Amino acid sequence: MFSKVKMCAKPQLVLQIAIILLLPSVGHANAKKLFVVTTTPDLRYFAERIGGDKVTVTCLMHPRQNPHTVQPLPSFAVQMSHADLFVCVGLDFELWADQLLDMARNPKIRRGAQGYVDASIGIPLIEVPTGRVTREQGEIHIFGNPHYWLDPLNAKIIVNNIAAGLKRVSPGNSDYFEANRKKLIEEIEEILDETLKLAAPLKGEKIVAYHLTWSYLANRYGFKIIGQLEPKPGIPPSARHISELIELMKANEVKVILKEPFYENRFPRLIAQQTGAKLVEVAPSIGGDKGVNTYRDLLTNILGKLVEAITGCTTKRKGE
Ligand SMILES: [Zn+2]
Repeated sequence: MFSKVKMCAKPQLVLQIAIILLLPSVGHANAKKLFVVTTTPDLRYFAERIGGDKVTVTCLMHPRQNPHTVQPLPSFAVQMSHADLFVCVGLDFELWADQLLDMARNPKIRRGAQGYVDASIGIPLIEVPTGRVTREQGEIHIFGNPHYWLDPLNAKIIVNNIAAGLKRVSPGNSDYFEANRKKLIEEIEEILDETLKLAAPLKGEKIVAYHLTWSYLANRYGFKIIGQLEPKPGIPPSARHISELIELMKANEVKVILKEPFYENRFPRLIAQQTGAKLVEVAPSIGGDKGVNTYRDLLTNILGKLVEAITGCTTKRKGE
């Protein structure tokens, strides 16, 4: 059986966290503000926008890190031990979260407590496995695809979940959070309109990705991801799978291979060379690429790069 302890916490990490948590707390620099801990930079962005000057937000993951292979640090539990609100992607995206929540010994943010926000609540999930799925072979999307923040309609649900959490832990500021929430929801609607126009050339296009990070994005903007370098999420490419993928790409005249900066380049470059498809590297989180500081920037950056690659690419056909 899969063991979170085995995957997530080495004995020395447990010891380091225990020692740090035993040290006297120096108190938080902004004692009057709510202290919010989010796992990803995207959740931090939304929490900052809604919380405004009533919150200090810190995030645990780096935007150019592979989120599925994050090793929890002692500092994670320390931050969590001080938090008033903890916001996570959920769906086991943060495999280490439950164990670190235990170590943080902070009843305010325990799973199910007022200060615990699972941002995935209410998201219409896709790619939910139907048969028996385990992590034994390394699969990592066992509750459905957790990369849901790249669809603006899902971003609205995330925003509502975070706003509800902030109101629960600080009811006195509810009106302030509500005003910020409304403003942000309107902005996301504008972003959706803008990006649908920007992404119009992608409609009906077929692309190939390294990992299933982009499925919600593809559904919203009308393109299809017809294959991945990973045979299954979390399982590294094999020579046989790559050779089949190349044939599939030639048969479908795929123009783009989309990958995150944290995946290797050897296979993507080989495929690009064999098929004539263009390799597009883009970070799926705010702060991952230069100049990407907002949710608008994030979608504009990803879709802009895709449009540029699709409109300026000639691919090899089958038999070439
Ligand atoms: Zn994933």
